[in-house]
Amino acid sequence: MGKADGFLKYNRELPQARDPKERINDSNEIYTAFPEEKTKQQAARCMDCGVPFCHSGCPLGNLIPDFNDAVYDGEWDRAAQILYSTNNFPEFTGRICPAPCESSCVLAINKPAVAIEHIEKAIAEKSFELGLVKPQPPKHRTGKKVAVIGSGPAGLAAAAQLNQAGHEVHVYDKDDKAGGLLRYGIPDFKLEKWTIDRRLDILKAEGIRFHLGVEIGTDTTIKKLHRKYDAVLVAIGSTKPRLLDIPGNDLKGIHFAMEYLTLHNRRVANEEIPAEIDLHAQDKHVLVIGGGDTGSDCVGTANRHFARSISQLQYRTMPSDTRAPHNPWPEWPMTYSSSSSHDEGCERSWGWLTKEFVGDENGHVTGLKVVELEWKSSREYDEKAGSERILPCDLALIAIGYERPMHDDFQASFDFEFDSRGNFKLQDWQTNIPGIFSAGDACRGQSLVVWAISDGREAARAMDIYLMGASELPSKELSQLVLGS
Ligand code: FAD
Repeated sequence: MGKADGFLKYNRELPQARDPKERINDSNEIYTAFPEEKTKQQAARCMDCGVPFCHSGCPLGNLIPDFNDAVYDGEWDRAAQILYSTNNFPEFTGRICPAPCESSCVLAINKPAVAIEHIEKAIAEKSFELGLVKPQPPKHRTGKKVAVIGSGPAGLAAAAQLNQAGHEVHVYDKDDKAGGLLRYGIPDFKLEKWTIDRRLDILKAEGIRFHLGVEIGTDTTIKKLHRKYDAVLVAIGSTKPRLLDIPGNDLKGIHFAMEYLTLHNRRVANEEIPAEIDLHAQDKHVLVIGGGDTGSDCVGTANRHFARSISQLQYRTMPSDTRAPHNPWPEWPMTYSSSSSHDEGCERSWGWLTKEFVGDENGHVTGLKVVELEWKSSREYDEKAGSERILPCDLALIAIGYERPMHDDFQASFDFEFDSRGNFKLQDWQTNIPGIFSAGDACRGQSLVVWAISDGREAARAMDIYLMGASELPSKELSQLVLGS
C-alpha cells in the first residue's frame, strides 16, 4: 500500500466535464485531461482493505487495491499488468462502466469512493501511450478452429482469450464494422470509436480473423458453422426491443431508441444515411420513454440535435438520494442518479403512465396522453383521478428495455433451449447443442459491458476445456479461490 493516510489527505476528484453548452456542439468525449499527479493522489485514497469488497463488486474480479498501489508508485507497467490480467478491454470499462466496484468500495461507507473507474481509464490510456499494449500472437497453435458469432464486448473478449489459447478464431458479425453496441448503441460522447478501432487493430495483428457483414441465420446457417468449426460461441447480444403496447403506437414519429442511436452513431462516423430512414430531433418536442442507459443516451443525442424540448418519462416514483435499509452497502445502490446527458438539459418526470399516442390528420404523432400514478406498494398503483394530460411530442423514443436475443433464425438449424426470458439456456457456458456456447447479453439479457467481457472470458475457458480437456486460461472463480485461500 502506497500511502497509509491518502484517504484522509485527499478528497475524491475526477476530470472536469466540458461545459454542457459547449460540448453539445460536438460528439467528442466530454471529459478534459487530468494531471498524472492527481491520478496518483486518487490512487493513494485506496485503503488496501483487509477484505477488498471492490474485487467482488467488479464482475471481472479486477485486483483494484493492487493496481492502485502501482499507480501511486508511478509504476504504470506493473499497474497495466495487473489490470490486463483480469480485463481485456479496460479502455472501454474505464470510460463507460457504471462502476459497481465503487459502490462496494469500503471507503464509500462514509466517504466518497476511490475513483476506481477513472484510475482504470488512466492505466489503459497510459499503457497505450507507453507502447505497453502490443500484439502478442500465441506462440503455439492448437490446430482447432473456433467461430464467434457477434463482435460486441462478449464476442471480442472470448475471441481474444481463445486466440491466446492457440485456437484459430473467426469472428462473424452482421454489421459492417465490429464492436456491437460499443459502436452502434453507445454514443461517441461516452465512447469515441477510435478506441474500438485501436483495439481491433491489436486483435487482428494477433491473428483473429473478422468476417463482417455476414448474418448467421440469413447469409449462412449456424449449422454450417457448427460443421466447419470445432466449437462455436453465440454472442449476439439481446436487442429485440420491448414494445410500448398502447393505442397509437403505429403513428409516424414513434421509434425504438436503438434506431435513433444507431443512425446517429453512423452519422458521426461520416456514413451516408439515406434520407428516407434518417431520424433527427432538431426543433422537435422529443419524449424519451424509459430510463436506463439507453434513455439517457437518447437525451444526450437529442441535445446534440438541438431538439426544441426533451422530456424523459419513467413510470416508477423518483428514487431517494439515500440507500433504503433493505439496500445496504456494498450492494449496488438503488438511489437517484443522473447522467452527464441529463446535465445538458432534460425534464425528467417520474410516476407517469403512458396511455395513448395522439396524432394529426397525416398520421404523425403530436402528443402522448399520460396519467399520474399513486404507488401503493412496489407493485401496485392507482391512477390519480383528474391527472390525465397530453404532453407535446413530435418524436417519441421508446427505451423501455429489450425482450431477448434475436435468435429466431437459429432455430431452423437447431432446437435451442432458452430460459424463461428467452435467453440461451446454458450449462457451463454451453447451450443444449454440444459444441455451441454462449456469452454476454445473449445468455444474460441486456446488461453491462463489464459483464459481457467477464462472460466472454469465462465462456472462452469453458470452450478451451471442451476442445483440449484442460485450460490454462484464467477464470474469475479460480483467482478468487486462490486469493481466498
Ligand atoms: P452486443 O454488444 O449487443 O453485440 C452483439 C453483436 O452480435 C452485434 O455486433 C451484432 O451485430 C451481432 N449479431 C447479432 N446477431 C447476429 C447474427 N445473427 N449474425 C451475426 N452477427 C450477429 N453498458 C455499460 O456497461 N455502460 C454503458 O454506458 C452502456 N450504455 C448502453 C447504451 C445503449 C444505448 C445500449 C443499448 C446498451 C448500453 N450498455 C451499456 C449495455 C452494453 O452495451 C451491453 O450490455 C453489451 O454491449 C453487451 O455485449 P454483447 O457482446 O453481449 O452484445
